[in-house]
Amino acid sequence: MVQDHVTVWNNVLEQIKNSLNVEDFMRWFIPLKPLRMEGSVLIVEAPNEFLVERLEENYIDILRKGIRSEIGEKGQLKYQYIKTNSTSKNSFQSPVRISHPSRNTTTIPVSAYNPFVMPGLKKMDIDSNLNPNYTFDNFIEGSCNRLARQAGIQIAKDPGKNFNPLILYGNVGLGKTHLVQAIGNSLLKYFPEKNVIYTSAEKFTQQFINSVKDNRTNEFSQFYHGLDVLIIDDIQFLAGKSGTQEIFFHLFNHLHQQGKQIVLTSDRAPHELKDIEDRLVNRFKWGLSTDLTSPDYETRMAIIIAKMEEKGIKLPERIIDFICLNLKSNIRELEGIIISLIAQSSINNRKLDIELAQEVIKNYTAKVNHEISPEEILEFICRECNVNIDAVRGKSRKGPVAQARHISIYFIRKHLSNLTLKEIGETFGGKDHSTILHSIKAVDIQMETDKSFLAKVEEIEKKLNKNIKRK
Ligand code: ADP
Ligand code: MG
Repeated sequence: MVQDHVTVWNNVLEQIKNSLNVEDFMRWFIPLKPLRMEGSVLIVEAPNEFLVERLEENYIDILRKGIRSEIGEKGQLKYQYIKTNSTSKNSFQSPVRISHPSRNTTTIPVSAYNPFVMPGLKKMDIDSNLNPNYTFDNFIEGSCNRLARQAGIQIAKDPGKNFNPLILYGNVGLGKTHLVQAIGNSLLKYFPEKNVIYTSAEKFTQQFINSVKDNRTNEFSQFYHGLDVLIIDDIQFLAGKSGTQEIFFHLFNHLHQQGKQIVLTSDRAPHELKDIEDRLVNRFKWGLSTDLTSPDYETRMAIIIAKMEEKGIKLPERIIDFICLNLKSNIRELEGIIISLIAQSSINNRKLDIELAQEVIKNYTAKVNHEISPEEILEFICRECNVNIDAVRGKSRKGPVAQARHISIYFIRKHLSNLTLKEIGETFGGKDHSTILHSIKAVDIQMETDKSFLAKVEEIEKKLNKNIKRK
């Protein structure tokens, strides 16, 4: 049975891959794209003559072996490539170089070869994964996000030029995902022909793992290498995943070299990313990294008003004011409150007043925060810090034990704000309120002065939040 060109080429690559290091493989073989089979001849597209010459010089033996084992003794490989000095797109003549297993190479002309319909060059049939509701228009600008928004607008108009990569970082709920998707959406309006992908680092990793499992890493790479704009959300997720980092490193280099735009988000500044290879972090510094911070009162107000208009909701000014004054950190929460408020008033027929707003805010934060007990937090932290829970409850002042105690108290205070200091003390064998206060302060101070401690606490908090969400 004759196999199709893609399968043949993938099988050849599969064989070749093992006898080369990843970098050489990426450099010399990934740029080749299978076009078609003509009898026992496989035709691949090569970006230029230089690459083909080097390829033949260095890899003819393994190529020949691969081609023969896939197609048979008569198997041949032809390269078709584009001469970039052509001035007219259509009166274009491209040479084809034939590589015989006997090592002879000849060049024959091919007419009617239109580079604009070649796979890999044409617009791919892909789903960009963009949510059309995220736009620049409905992203309210304030001093907390001005630079990020403006850089985004610039990129959408002129990708790959000024800020490459663009990295947006900051805490959850501050608009990173909204903004990078707005870049994608706006860019596609200006350049509908461009191949744009939005994905999360988690999804990217999963896809890569699947491709390894299914022996389809070539397809994976080819797909991503063919993009014009790559948007990856939450790259902190790549921490510790060295295989995915490796593939991403090559992808990054490839796209960047071709002037393709890369946009990334992260929950922290690039230099604070943990367990991400230095060479990758260094690349991140090539472009612009900018943070999103919590919105000030006026921006919160403008966001709430815009969200209400969007949803066709009207809230009394006093209530808007009340919400803005009471919820400072995160815009997702702000949205959640408005929705709960409307639900309460319409479903339960309650009057939309400050009292209801107060209640909703209280319930909302309670729902997010109160579903875990102090005991559970303590257990969780002890597990994370790998220390004995009884020691933490006791009086030991040993470094790791005392640290776990401080961190547990800190999180209990943070997540269970309805508990008094004395009540928290009860979880720790009846410690008095000043001891508890001391622990909270100790964590606050150390987070301000010790970056690695800060990172540790943040890491734990993320896991803790996940744990709470799961409950
Ligand atoms: P992040 O990715 O930083 O966690 P998101 O982009 O998911 O945050 O934003 C959370 C919610 O807040 C989204 O619904 C988003 O539309 C909204 N949001 C954030 N910032 C703004 C803003 N400046 N203007 C309007 N909506 C915003
Ligand atoms: Mg996000």
